[in-house]
Amino acid sequence: MLKNELPVVPLRDIVLFPGTIIPLFVGREKSINALSATKEIYKVENLLFTAQKSQDTNQPGVKDIFNIGVIAKILQAIKLSNNNIKLLVEAKQRVKISDITDHTYFIGQYDLLDDDEYAKTDQINIMTDDLVEVFKKYAKSSRKVSLEVINAINSQKKNPAYLSNIIASHLVCKIKDKQKILETTNVQKRIERLIDLINNELAIVTADVSVSNRVKQQIEKTQKDYYLHEQMKAIQKELGDDDKADLMDLEKKIKTFPLSKEAKEKAEHEFKKLKSMNSMTSEASVIRSYLDILLEMPWGKLDKSKVNINQAAEVLERDHYGLEKVKERIIEYLAVLQRSKKMSSPIICFVGPPGVGKTSLAKSIAEAVGRKYTKFSLGGIRDEAEIRGHRKTYIGSMPGKIIKLLKKVNVNNPLMLLDEIDKVGADFRGDPSSAMLEVLDPEQNKSFVDHYLDVEYDLSQVMFIATANSLTISRPLLDRMEIIRIDGYIEEEKFQIARKYLIPKQLKNHNMKESELIIEDAALLDIIRFYTRESGVRSLERELGALARKSLRKILADKQTKSITITTQNLEEFLGIRKYRSSMAEETDIVGSTTGLAYTEVGGELLSIEAVCIPGKGEIKATGKLGEVMKESTQAAYSFFCSNVSNFTIVEKDYQQKDIHLHVPEGATPKDGPSAGIAIFSTIVSLMTGVPVRRDVAMTGEITLRGNVLPIGGLKEKLLAAARGGIKTVVIPKDNVKDLKDVPDSIKKKLQIIPVSKALEVLDIALNGKFYSDLKIH
Ligand code: ADP
Repeated sequence: MLKNELPVVPLRDIVLFPGTIIPLFVGREKSINALSATKEIYKVENLLFTAQKSQDTNQPGVKDIFNIGVIAKILQAIKLSNNNIKLLVEAKQRVKISDITDHTYFIGQYDLLDDDEYAKTDQINIMTDDLVEVFKKYAKSSRKVSLEVINAINSQKKNPAYLSNIIASHLVCKIKDKQKILETTNVQKRIERLIDLINNELAIVTADVSVSNRVKQQIEKTQKDYYLHEQMKAIQKELGDDDKADLMDLEKKIKTFPLSKEAKEKAEHEFKKLKSMNSMTSEASVIRSYLDILLEMPWGKLDKSKVNINQAAEVLERDHYGLEKVKERIIEYLAVLQRSKKMSSPIICFVGPPGVGKTSLAKSIAEAVGRKYTKFSLGGIRDEAEIRGHRKTYIGSMPGKIIKLLKKVNVNNPLMLLDEIDKVGADFRGDPSSAMLEVLDPEQNKSFVDHYLDVEYDLSQVMFIATANSLTISRPLLDRMEIIRIDGYIEEEKFQIARKYLIPKQLKNHNMKESELIIEDAALLDIIRFYTRESGVRSLERELGALARKSLRKILADKQTKSITITTQNLEEFLGIRKYRSSMAEETDIVGSTTGLAYTEVGGELLSIEAVCIPGKGEIKATGKLGEVMKESTQAAYSFFCSNVSNFTIVEKDYQQKDIHLHVPEGATPKDGPSAGIAIFSTIVSLMTGVPVRRDVAMTGEITLRGNVLPIGGLKEKLLAAARGGIKTVVIPKDNVKDLKDVPDSIKKKLQIIPVSKALEVLDIALNGKFYSDLKIH
């Protein structure tokens, strides 16, 4: 037994590095023998370990093991139940093993191998740092190195030789590579090789990770796709039969539906596209809804409409009070229709303030001629597409309103009310009124093309009736229409309408008996006078609705109450305090306050013009709801007064040191600018002379600087307003006398209408003066 001879244990898959403590399992017979020999023959605790060249060799021979290994101390040996031994060994130092002999165990001679001498240069330090860094990276990505190891390594930076051994022992790599590290006694080289090795391993590990991730993702995606496909298949299977049946239904419908030739071709074409598509796609649903709409249109469907003018007259009479001229015009229109049977006659357009019965007249006409009624509100429409539709390029595109309405009434010859045709606007989205023109033109509307339907649709059987508040309608549209004006109602008419139509209607709407709500005449008049201010009867109807509602509530709340009687006394209890008073004539004659007449959006109105004197320097200022033109009228009236001041007995002697403040309180904005000139003049004269203006006189007319009276617009509406407001005498410009023929006789009977041509004449009437008659200047 030589001094440097020890048993050798070959290790199958591990390379021991000096400085490491490692558990080992020893099971091969030769190795167990080596262990016992160490203990019993050599009586030492050390033995040699070296790696096998190939892991697959079970019974390695001398040539199968490396000759560089380690000498290690056995710290612990535990015999396991299966005769294997668990060792804990501490590798001490590198050894070169030679002369290995193969007995019942291997015996080898060993020489201790020291690391080469090395100086701790910067280079070594940097390399050590590098090594630690790459190893950390490696540890992180391989996840096979524990945190303690990393900490331990961090603390061993000062000992590169030891550090390199420890790191090498923790690498999971080929035995051959590890062995090479073990055999390198030059520390710097060892570190270099280690760094290379780790970098290689790292590349493999990251490639591994990304590959495995990719593989994982791929698998997940394939699985997901597969799952979704399966799910879709299942759903389609569920729906499949329905789907197919549905398509068949559709095909049948296209074949049998009385579509126009063009529409049929289009439908067939679209259907073909649809059939070849997956029904789940958005394109399919666009086509689907297109076909649905196309097939829901009332192709060729006409109601049996017949015009019987006698019956029509009856219906109109039944539903509407008064309006004699209007009814007459309607009947004439229907008579022409009855003869010609064509809709090419101009379209009726009812023009008038809100609530005068334009819509309800149209409804009655529909009933009279046996057509369905449908209404297209044009107010505020700015987009041509609302009339003509959007192209069916996206989900949610829709046909225009005309087509939609026809689809809804499900017939091709309804009466379509084009409500508020004067409110159609135009902007960058196209001009709706030109689209409207196409709809109304009998030459073109036979082949109306909605952008959505994209096939011609015949609108020529539709009976169009339009309504408008004013005549501010584009010229070409206006030319297509026959205007029928409906002016406002006077008090008596409103009273009658309420009694005969509105009250019974509200009672019916509220399911009330006639005896349950009694409105006294005086109360009804008060409602008309103090709760509404309109040319029509819409607010009146609303107020009556409120009365019915409130009465009904009272009756239901108290069993004792069987009926409610509305009187002038309890009216406020139901409708709240009075809302208006100004559209009535003043109660007494007042100095410096005149009643003018204005023509507004809602019809005619009384215009109260007041003035006071304030300290100043002989100027006039005007405030209130006055347009520019009215301000100029004020100047003109004042100048005319000043130039004639010698003719008047002035009470405000120092008027040149005073300003006049003229004011027009509240009221709707007048539509026609210059019409209050003579009223302003009368106000100024009254103020300066102290003569009150007659409260029952109203006036309208423009004034020139020389005191001539110029004609005005809206005479009829103004006279209506005067009659409504309790005025007895109205002064009008002489040039407007010709317009009196349009004013209903009932109004003319109620009013004393005095035409004038000179402003001074007005004073004779309104100020009870004799200015004009006394003056020499005629
Ligand atoms: P418009 O279309 O002119 O704004 P509507 O037709 O809506 O007015 O009329 C408002 C209400 O007044 C409706 O209930 C209508 O029946 C009623 N009405 C208007 N004028 C008369 C009338 N002359 N006779 C009976 N009811 C009327």
